[in-house]
Amino acid sequence: MSEQHRDGTRASLLDEYEVNSKTLEDIGVEILPVNTGKTVHAKRIPGHYRTLKWIAASVWLTLFFGPYLRWNGHQAILWDLPNRQFHFFGITILPQDIWVLAMILLFFALLLAAVTAIAGRVWCGYFCFHTVWTDVFTWLEEKFEGPPAKRIKLDQQPLNWEKIKVKLPKHLVWLLIGFATSFSFLAFFTDSFDLWKRLFHLDLGKWEWLTLIGLGLATYFFAGFMREQVCIGFCPYARIQGAMIDEATIVPTYDKDRGEPRAQMKERNAYVRKLLQQYKAKGEEEKLMEQFLAEGMDERAAKKKVQETLRQRANEEADHHFGDCIDCHLCVDVCPTGVDIRLGQQFGCITCGLCIDACDSIMEKIKKPKGLIRYASLDDFLGKETPKWYKRPRVLIYITVMTIAAGLLLWKLTHLSPIDVKALHDRAPLFVQMSDGTIQNKYTVKIVNKTPNKMMAKITVEGPKGLVFLTDRVVPVEPGTVGQAIVRVRLPKSALKNGRAPIRIIVQDQNHPEIRTTYESVFIGPKR
Ligand code: SF4
Ligand code: SF4
Repeated sequence: MSEQHRDGTRASLLDEYEVNSKTLEDIGVEILPVNTGKTVHAKRIPGHYRTLKWIAASVWLTLFFGPYLRWNGHQAILWDLPNRQFHFFGITILPQDIWVLAMILLFFALLLAAVTAIAGRVWCGYFCFHTVWTDVFTWLEEKFEGPPAKRIKLDQQPLNWEKIKVKLPKHLVWLLIGFATSFSFLAFFTDSFDLWKRLFHLDLGKWEWLTLIGLGLATYFFAGFMREQVCIGFCPYARIQGAMIDEATIVPTYDKDRGEPRAQMKERNAYVRKLLQQYKAKGEEEKLMEQFLAEGMDERAAKKKVQETLRQRANEEADHHFGDCIDCHLCVDVCPTGVDIRLGQQFGCITCGLCIDACDSIMEKIKKPKGLIRYASLDDFLGKETPKWYKRPRVLIYITVMTIAAGLLLWKLTHLSPIDVKALHDRAPLFVQMSDGTIQNKYTVKIVNKTPNKMMAKITVEGPKGLVFLTDRVVPVEPGTVGQAIVRVRLPKSALKNGRAPIRIIVQDQNHPEIRTTYESVFIGPKR
């Protein structure tokens, strides 16, 4: 890798690469100035990664359709903040099960870290809500205002009626998408159909109006105007990626060894013409003509063959002299963040792969192998053998913790009890001696109803022989709320050992007898 280029430059950006370095710069990533100037008007071309980007973006349709999914007559996914409940397809998660949500967050954080370690900023390039919305907004921009050149010209025009007429529909549609986004977000926190009804009656609460308008305008502003500047200037993830990637991470990379020295087609053609003239001056034409005539060709065919042979030789020499990059600039023109990947991996690159599509389309046209820009790791470029992603220690660690988190999550979700019971032993007094000689303890039983239906909780108590219990009523408990009842338990003194006896408090829903739980507690009395 230390050999010199034909143009005298070093063979690779990665020549001085140190394997044990960890920062972006140290592992050969050039931190170049990013585009913080004018709006990027990227070209759109079809391709493998463009299709992939649309498929990945379609995941976000769940934001718009999710709130209308029903499960057992209720909204399937609902953050019921006033009642502090999260409903997910019949499963109700209450604040006491909040660790389930913590596990979900841990799982996704590690998934992000693992994917970044394997393939860089895949999240940014394909799934991030900001890049997805920006992509949709710029797609619409192209529909309303035409291709990039036309849009740049329009931007430069002074504001007049003609310009307003072209721009206004785009802004209206952007606003519409902005408010559809904020409305859909809001609909995860309140019944979606009821929200529509209240919106039409202009009967939303203060926070609802604020979220609807605030988030709607923020979407319009960030996806419509700030665009790539968010990825470059604000996004914290862009800043921590250095800690997540390593020398085996694959990212879109320009093969400098193959591409340089770059030259445009006109420069190449001029070089070929110059070579042809040199061949002529050296008498190569005559020599070949003699050879072909001697081989028995007629004069016309020999002349044609001479031209073909010399052109092919000149082309081969030009190919050897220049790299494969024809400096068409298409890889830069399609980049949504205005990055020139030929200068090396950069901070602004969101690894969307669109420059790969662009360059592959050019390579196809000029009949060169695809992959001048391709997903590759620094190790690949150093000619080192890259371990498979599942053999890399950091990926293995991420996957192990992710599997544990997913396992715990699955276990918890499949074992979430529809009812939670706690019995608080009355401490003052700890027990009471009754006139018939029995001992009485008092318990406050709290029942959490995690089902979507009203519960009629019946309380019974089991324990040593002679146990008697008193409770005032069957406790009605609304979904997601806590019901409470006082239970008095009496035991003969003889049933106690060392002043204690184990008891079981059983709570059962009379409406659904299969919903039943047991709480183990202790009965306390005098030691002698
Ligand atoms: S350089 Fe290529 S991969 Fe990176 S953001 Fe631009 S188009 Fe996407
Ligand atoms: S698209 Fe390919 S050939 Fe064109 S400038 Fe970029 S790297 Fe060079």
